[in-house]
Amino acid sequence: MSTLAFEDVRVRYGTHRSGLTAVDGVELTVPSGSVVGLVGESGSGKSTLARAAVGLAPVTGGRVLLDGTDVRRLPRGRRPVQLVFQDPYSSLDPRMTVGESIAEALPRRAFGGRQAFRDRKARHGEVARLLELVGLDAGRSGALPGELSGGQRQRIALARALAARPEVVIADEITSALDVSVQGSVLNLVRELQRELGLTMLFISHNLAVVRYVSDYVAVLYLGRIVEVGPAERLLADPQHPYTRELVEAAPSAHGSLLAAPDSPVADAEPGDPHRPPAGCRFHPRCPVGPLVEEARSICTTVDPATVAASREHRAACHFAAAVGDTDTPVPNSVVRTGFPSARSDTLE
Ligand code: SF4
Repeated sequence: MSTLAFEDVRVRYGTHRSGLTAVDGVELTVPSGSVVGLVGESGSGKSTLARAAVGLAPVTGGRVLLDGTDVRRLPRGRRPVQLVFQDPYSSLDPRMTVGESIAEALPRRAFGGRQAFRDRKARHGEVARLLELVGLDAGRSGALPGELSGGQRQRIALARALAARPEVVIADEITSALDVSVQGSVLNLVRELQRELGLTMLFISHNLAVVRYVSDYVAVLYLGRIVEVGPAERLLADPQHPYTRELVEAAPSAHGSLLAAPDSPVADAEPGDPHRPPAGCRFHPRCPVGPLVEEARSICTTVDPATVAASREHRAACHFAAAVGDTDTPVPNSVVRTGFPSARSDTLE
């Protein structure tokens, strides 16, 4: 597997006054074979970043690198970064059987030591294998997407992504359009596939509880910028940025429901407007420890905070990050990678 890196990536739509910078100077690395969870609210730029990685959004600054090579310079026909979309209803062609949809994504030409599937029999066998890999009966290959449930369709979307033999999979809110009763089984499938195949994965969600369930690292995006990133255990146990702290406090505990997050002050507050991001720290109009409550912190309204290292891999962009300096404080096991609490989580549809 490969490392995916966003190097000072900027995505801007439109021009001048009417323009919108959806992603602004994002630096993020998804190490080979690991899962980076990207969390942020609606409008933070999560999906735009995902789309930029696969060429569906314009990279107007910086670069997206796959093992050091700009993805725009990869050979034509290679699609090493696969994106699984939020909506399984629109991501599959309703006129194609699920077997045809998966077979369409199989490589016809061998490259980089990867197998090619040139004849019909080989494709048929591989489709059956992929269906079983995502927990579906191989006999469903003749079904049309409309005959399947939302959870089954999302499994087909995952199988189709894996069919392309990707180096990196980006999962963009893949459980948020699903019924709560099946979200757990899809999350468990993602975890199993990642471990079994050693996938490099960028897992995007607005729900920190979902992100922490599958991620080795967590990155927090706010109004187009990464405000905190670090190993999941450390970041969740010791969040440095006030926005992350609010997200962590709002996320359910190991003993609560993973998917039903309680109301949080952050969720209640008016989200920032990406068309007119605030000067200085973009979070300052909502910050519970910023200039709204501490007059002396007026620097937050004028100076963009630089990223501060809280430890070797843990960084936050805040003038008043909670603590600076390494710490070897043990992390409670309940904080991250908690078992999925739903009794239905292991039940496939
Ligand atoms: S820089 Fe200031 S406003 Fe921004 S998060 Fe830190 S304390 Fe809050």
